[in-house]
Amino acid sequence: MSVLGSETLSLYIHIPFCKRKCYYCDFLSFPVGVSKKNQENNQIEEYVDFLIKELSFYKKKKFKTIYIGGGTPSILNESLLIKLLSNLREYARGLKEYTMEINPESFTRDKFDIISSFGVNRISIGVQSFSDMVLKSVNRSTRVKDIFNSIGILKEKKFENFNIDLIMGIQGRNQYLDDLNMAVKLMPSHLSIYLLHLSEQTVYYKMYRNGKIRLLDDDTMAELYAISCDYLAKSGYKHYEISNFAKSGYESIHNLNYWLYGDYVGIGLGAVSKIDNRRITNEKILKKYYEKLSNGELPVGNIEYLNRDKQMRERLMLMLRTSRGFEIKEIEDTLKMKNNGRLKNFKKMLEIIMKNGYAKVRNGRILFTEKGFLSSNYIISEFFDLLN
Ligand code: SF4
Repeated sequence: MSVLGSETLSLYIHIPFCKRKCYYCDFLSFPVGVSKKNQENNQIEEYVDFLIKELSFYKKKKFKTIYIGGGTPSILNESLLIKLLSNLREYARGLKEYTMEINPESFTRDKFDIISSFGVNRISIGVQSFSDMVLKSVNRSTRVKDIFNSIGILKEKKFENFNIDLIMGIQGRNQYLDDLNMAVKLMPSHLSIYLLHLSEQTVYYKMYRNGKIRLLDDDTMAELYAISCDYLAKSGYKHYEISNFAKSGYESIHNLNYWLYGDYVGIGLGAVSKIDNRRITNEKILKKYYEKLSNGELPVGNIEYLNRDKQMRERLMLMLRTSRGFEIKEIEDTLKMKNNGRLKNFKKMLEIIMKNGYAKVRNGRILFTEKGFLSSNYIISEFFDLLN
C-alpha cells in the first residue's frame, strides 16, 4: 500500500514560524530570525520551497478542503504568499473550503487581496483577547489595534466567512466576558473558544509553578463556559463541537473531517496525516525534514498503524465532542464481543450520566450536554476503561 493512500482528502499545510512564542503555546512553532528582515525572509523562503517539494508528491490527489495553519501563515510576505498559493492552485480546484489562519499583526490589505485572489474563502483570526494587557502578559505580538484593523479589512471587503479564536483562562473573569461580548459584536461566522490548557512544556506552566500567575478555578471556568454557550446560542451560533460555534452553514468543513475521523494529508514540519488507517507524522526537526526532501523522500518521521480498537477509541473520543455524538449500538456491539459484564456496566454508566445531566440519547446516539462537554475527558476515559 502506498504511503499516499487513494481517497479524496483534506489537506493541511503547516507554517511553523511566528513573530514570538506565546507563553501558553505548545504547538510546533518557533520565532523566526527576528533581528534582520532579510534573514527572516530567507529562512521562510527556504521552508516554502521545501513545502512545495513535499506537495509535489501529492500531484494526483484531489482535495476537498485546504487549511493553511501554524504557527502564523500570515507571516509570509507578499511574494512568498504568491509563491505558495500559486503552487497550490492545481490542488485548489473545486474545493469546498479554503482556509488560512492569520495573526492580526502581520495581516494587511495587500495580503488579503492576494489570498482572496487565489480562492481562499475562509479566514481564521488568532485574537485570544481584546485586552492589550492580557496579550502582553502572554507574550503575544498582536495588539488590539491590529485586531480591529484586520477585521476592518474583512468588513471593508465584505468577507463574511471568518473565525475568531478566543482563549478562556488567560484573563480574569470579567475581562473574558468583555472578550466574548466584543467577539460577538464583530459578527464572525464562526467562533472557537479554547479553554486554557496548561502544558508542562510551556513558559506559562513555569510561571504558574513559580507562583507568578494565578489561574481561574474550575468552578469559574465552568461558569464562564456555561455563560458562553448560552450567550452564543442566543446570538445565533450553533454549538457543534466542544470548542466551536458557527452560524448556520458556516461549520468548518475541514475540521469536521478531523472530528468525524475522515482521512487527511498534512504537509510541513511535524504535520500529521491520517491515511488508510495509518497515522503518519512528519519529521519535527527542520534539518531532518529538509534532508529527507532533498533526498527525494517523503519527510516521514513516524508511522503508526491504527488497529480496530484504536480506531474505535479515537472515533469515540472525537465524535463525542461534536453535537453529532456517537452511535450507542456500535459501543454495545463492541462490548458484547468482549464480555457481558462490560455491557451491563456501560448501560449502568449511561443511565447515571444521563440522570445527572451529562448526556442525552437522541436517535440512538449518545450526545453530551454542555455540562457533559466540560467533563468529557473524565467520562470518555471511563468508556475507554470498559473498552480495554
Ligand atoms: S502565534 Fe499561535 S502558534 Fe505562534 S506562538 Fe502564539 S499561539 Fe503559538
